[in-house]
Amino acid sequence: MTFQPPAPLLPPQRILMGPGPSDVPASVLQAMARPIVGHLDPFFLRVMDESRDMLREVLGTTNTLTFPMSGTGSAGMETCIVNLVEPGDRVLVAVHGVFGGRMAEVARRAGAEVVTSESSWGRAVDVDALRAAAGGEAFDLVCVVHAETSTGVLQPLAPLRALADDLGALLVVDAVTSLAGVAINLDEQGVDAVYSGTQKCLSCPPGLAPVSFSPRAVERLERRKTPVQSWYLDLSLIARYWGGERAYHHTAPIQMIYALHESLRLVLTEGLAARQARHERVGAALCAGLQALGLKPLVPPEERLPMLTTVAVPDGVDEAAVRRKLLTTLNLEIGGGLGPMKGRAWRIGTMGSSATIANVLLCLEGLRAALSLGASDAAAAALAAYAE
Ligand SMILES: *Cc1c(COP(=O)(O)O)cnc(C)c1O
Repeated sequence: MTFQPPAPLLPPQRILMGPGPSDVPASVLQAMARPIVGHLDPFFLRVMDESRDMLREVLGTTNTLTFPMSGTGSAGMETCIVNLVEPGDRVLVAVHGVFGGRMAEVARRAGAEVVTSESSWGRAVDVDALRAAAGGEAFDLVCVVHAETSTGVLQPLAPLRALADDLGALLVVDAVTSLAGVAINLDEQGVDAVYSGTQKCLSCPPGLAPVSFSPRAVERLERRKTPVQSWYLDLSLIARYWGGERAYHHTAPIQMIYALHESLRLVLTEGLAARQARHERVGAALCAGLQALGLKPLVPPEERLPMLTTVAVPDGVDEAAVRRKLLTTLNLEIGGGLGPMKGRAWRIGTMGSSATIANVLLCLEGLRAALSLGASDAAAAALAAYAE
């Protein structure tokens, strides 16, 4: 028998309210369907420059070393760590969810001496405990996740900056979920190295990891005694392609950069402040509606992320069956719990283009039906919170 190739793909049109990817605007998908050009084509060099300018604007920075790495958010994480860590360096990681744990693991693999302090999942970092874990000794890096997508917590950065100053450390921040959803203001907050991803609040497909290094972080990079352990992620090499020299390192994922260009353009056209306000209103509407359904958000209001809400699964409910029902009846995706929250929580994303009041109303009604709850005023509660 000869091999029969499968039929062409016809992906379903989902509504993505999970922890990422989020819904992608049509114009971003269309940008990816534009003609491919070479990675040194004058047209493409312009796309790179414009993308970088827009990225700086969205990050709130003037950092020269600012560009998207080829790879997903985790590649951004590895980039920050492997470029800033030399074997034996001391790295302090605040762990309050899955992604802080991943940072610690990446730093260990890069040969760092890693000290962690684990705070309660679903709460902001206990900075006093982190300081105690540091034991008054000097550190090279302090690492923290700005928006913990596994728990739904927004972490204030100022106390971490203060701690990093006291320890003589650079501050490395995971902004995968926070970028373009809540304020970051890199320069104002004194962040030394940041990485993000494209598929969360930027509403671009997964595949790029924006990174930015402060002048101090670049200086650290330049003063390394050992080469960066990963050739592919070595910023000193890649910066020569994104900088004036345009030296070939690896072939840029042309179509992904087109997509990023369009998504950043949409973010700045909407306006950063307006986009952040939309995430807040939609997140508040979702929480109000969930509470009207009798569901309990897991994070206290003052520490909640607007773009990712974690809610407890009621006793006796098969959470995966509920998610399956939403997907099959409404084409609606929400996320399950990660790590210790597996089976016990739903994670509902309202990121980027997915952050609409219409999506919230659909999700609330879907949950009401899937949980066989009676008539409720969840929609009214959501609309009232949205209007505030
Ligand atoms: C999604 C996410 C990551 C990992 O990004 P990938 O694109 O899945 O590699 C890292 N940190 C946080 C906070 C995230 O939400």
